[in-house]
Amino acid sequence: MNGARPPRTFDRRSLLKVSAAAAYLALLPRAEELAAAPLNYELKPTKLEDGIWMIPGAQDAITMANGGAIANISILDTDAGAIIVDTGPSRRFGEALVKLARELTGKDVARVYNTHFHPDHVFGNQAFDAKVIAAPQGVIDGLKVAGEGFADSMYLIAGDWMRGTEVVLPGVALTSDVEDFGNRRIRPMAMRGHTESDLVLFEENSGLMFAGDLVFLDRAPTTPHADIERWRISLANLGGIPHNRLVPGHGPVEEGDRGIAQTRAWIELIDAMIKDAFERGLDINEAIGLDLPEWTQKIAVARYEYERSVMHLYPVLEAERLPKLNNKS
Ligand SMILES: [Zn+2]
Repeated sequence: MNGARPPRTFDRRSLLKVSAAAAYLALLPRAEELAAAPLNYELKPTKLEDGIWMIPGAQDAITMANGGAIANISILDTDAGAIIVDTGPSRRFGEALVKLARELTGKDVARVYNTHFHPDHVFGNQAFDAKVIAAPQGVIDGLKVAGEGFADSMYLIAGDWMRGTEVVLPGVALTSDVEDFGNRRIRPMAMRGHTESDLVLFEENSGLMFAGDLVFLDRAPTTPHADIERWRISLANLGGIPHNRLVPGHGPVEEGDRGIAQTRAWIELIDAMIKDAFERGLDINEAIGLDLPEWTQKIAVARYEYERSVMHLYPVLEAERLPKLNNKS
């Protein structure tokens, strides 16, 4: 690597920070992926309707092969300029996104939203003026704390794709109920559950709801910062908001609520499986080895995300439950 970011030497503390963040991310890339990786994101927008496009993310883990481009990214044309929903995994991706938004809309970028602080959604921020990037305060705070750790682990996994990428915090903390762009009005809704702070956007003109990673479709949800109880409530709230189509953080855009239902089914499944395994006294490796039900076979990276969920939820259960058990004896 000969980019702006110097090669790092890690002391023990930063290594701990990296490994904590790396737990969120994928396994290290294989050598052949390293050799084969092209360093050019080919953004292929799908038109959702007039003036609204989505660049579908790969339904996969973050790997060297996909350069971290796994999240759905949306572009909306408005009277006031282009709106971008999430900025992708790297500076390079963000720069390609700026160019594409200009080609599609012929306008400057008026607003960028970050739906939550995960690296596949925010590391293209650098390509934009921070003054137009908006998110709830909770997203900004989360990125402030975890951003550097995410950046380090993204470098380890995606290598040169990340060259020159730095954490850029949103410059606008969202507080208003509506943002007016002339022909389009966006209603930002602060929710939580997938992370400590999740932004949902409803666009009034199209009736499209951008759910961020509160909803995954045909790709297993990630849970490293999840609060399952809060997530349940948010999914119920989402289902109660009338919308034409829902744009999930990962997966296809559809009418109806298959994404909400599938995400709910997944979090209920893993919550029950992992708690049950813990109650039965299985150790973490035994819990990881459990079979998933048949219906999850159609869901991308189900096995992988289940195993990651066990790895971070098991220690949480141990911390929560063991003292209570001890108290009883
Ligand atoms: Zn995501």
